[in-house]
Amino acid sequence: MSIVFICPNRDRSDWVAALHSIDPTLNVEIWPEISDLEAVEFIVSWDQPPHVLNQFPNLKCISSIGAGVEHLLNDSTRPAGIPLVRLVDDDLKQSMAEYVMLGVLEHFRRFSDYRRLQEQAVWELQQIPHISELGIGIMGFGEMGQYVAGKLSDFGFQVHGWNLSRKRTGRIKVYSGRDELSEFLKNAHILVCLLPLTKETRNILNTQNFSQLPPGAYLVNAARGGHLVDKDLLSALDSGQLSGALLDVFTEEPLPEQHPFWSHGKITVTPHIASVTNPESASAQLVENYHRALANEPLLNLVDVDRGY
Ligand code: NAP
Repeated sequence: MSIVFICPNRDRSDWVAALHSIDPTLNVEIWPEISDLEAVEFIVSWDQPPHVLNQFPNLKCISSIGAGVEHLLNDSTRPAGIPLVRLVDDDLKQSMAEYVMLGVLEHFRRFSDYRRLQEQAVWELQQIPHISELGIGIMGFGEMGQYVAGKLSDFGFQVHGWNLSRKRTGRIKVYSGRDELSEFLKNAHILVCLLPLTKETRNILNTQNFSQLPPGAYLVNAARGGHLVDKDLLSALDSGQLSGALLDVFTEEPLPEQHPFWSHGKITVTPHIASVTNPESASAQLVENYHRALANEPLLNLVDVDRGY
């Protein structure tokens, strides 16, 4: 019986150590160094190449090493019928909240303007609204979105969310589905994308939706590059419909050297670091799901393959 990590070009020895600190008897291997394909019952994967997941005849479960699962869902060579799980982790949520809060505060307190003014040695006060007047729209009100929304709301921002199925969480207003998207966008002075990438959400950050935001709105995309239509963002920044963007994720990663986002004065680029899984905090969940898979018990954080997240 073994657990295998399939994460090409990444050192996963820290995960092996974290799993062994929970249970030193676990047999953990890192692809492609696998001693016995038939012994593999649990795979932890990120950006696996095609035709790898289907090599294990006794596989019981595949886990993403992060919150997103599109790399598994889009792998047409993934064996059918094997359950998929993902990580839901307090550290991941906290880390995302730190990232979004930083982007929101930088924009709200006009720090990029002050940086520009400093370059010219200009001492000049910039006007800002009261914090309670700044509406923040969280697209994707799941594990990440709800946690981030709670932190921003505690801080004093006007926060509202958007999801697929209706659910209310008390003090934060939640809009649902395409019917309520316009209403959701209307009050988002800052739009934060924390959606999973699915057929329905691909390209959702586009000209039509940008045009429904208040003029001069700010965009934070910490979900996936596939949510954003790059050229639509550039047009919205040129026209002033958007005043800036903080982007952590891109259609092609690493972001190619010649991509216009790198040098755009209104765009801040970070290299997909908004929230990186911490083996120390997330390993217990992997081990728990491994034992559940072996015992045919209900798995934690099961992915709905038909829904796409
Ligand atoms: P989650 O718990 O599955 O939440 C997804 C949310 O999106 C849910 O509220 C869901 O609605 C909503 N949603 C899905 N499809 C929708 C649609 N078509 N229209 C409207 N709402 C829709 O996911 P999560 O754990 O919060 O993670 C979200 C994403 O964050 C991940 O998929 C990943 O891509 C990204 N992420 C990025 C980083 C990074 O470092 N940049 C790190 C971790 C995660 P319901 O509530 O109605 O189901």
